[in-house]
Amino acid sequence: MTDPADREFRLAFWKLHILHHASREPVYGLWMLRELEAHGHRLSPGTLYPLLARMEARGWLRSTGGRHARARRAYRITPGGRRLLAALRDDIHELYREVVLGREPRAEGRR
Ligand SMILES: [Zn+2]
Repeated sequence: MTDPADREFRLAFWKLHILHHASREPVYGLWMLRELEAHGHRLSPGTLYPLLARMEARGWLRSTGGRHARARRAYRITPGGRRLLAALRDDIHELYREVVLGREPRAEGRR
């Protein structure tokens, strides 16, 4: 699929994408695999499920159901996940302005 350097960056994008969808409705592993594939990212279940488990261990997602069938586990965003997503949205917006649009940050926005 992707080389390790590429993958290191994309892991962050995939997590963000999962967090985004989980903020709107419960997401399921199989659905998320298809969703990522529709965006051109072919992940194996062996990549996605451990990713979901790590996101749950970090407290950003909470899963229910599917005790014996991981494909049926529903993942929902937690309040902590929602706060993280809101903060990341601001970062993405700023990064997008600079990396994609080529606009320098405004002086008052500098850290
Ligand atoms: Zn999507």
